Amino acid sequence: MAQNAWDRVTARGQIGEKPVLEMRESCERCKTPFPMDSIDAMICRYECTFCEPCVSGPLNGHCPNCGGNLQPRPKRVQK
Ligand SMILES: [Zn+2]
Ligand SMILES: [Zn+2]
Repeated sequence: MAQNAWDRVTARGQIGEKPVLEMRESCERCKTPFPMDSIDAMICRYECTFCEPCVSGPLNGHCPNCGGNLQPRPKRVQK
């Protein structure tokens, strides 16, 4: 199961590029967009991104893709 999750992550990047922490702009479940500095975004260890209402509601704190814990996304540093 974990292997599948990694395949999914690497497939998004270009060949030879390591998976990096991407700042997704919308929930993978309900597609609700959130601003880049939103504190409502939650990510799992494989960087699946969901909104807080989905995580605290139907997802019950767990990523539906890899089963991992979803945690508040670190805020992007302002440039
Ligand atoms: Zn959502
Ligand atoms: Zn996940």
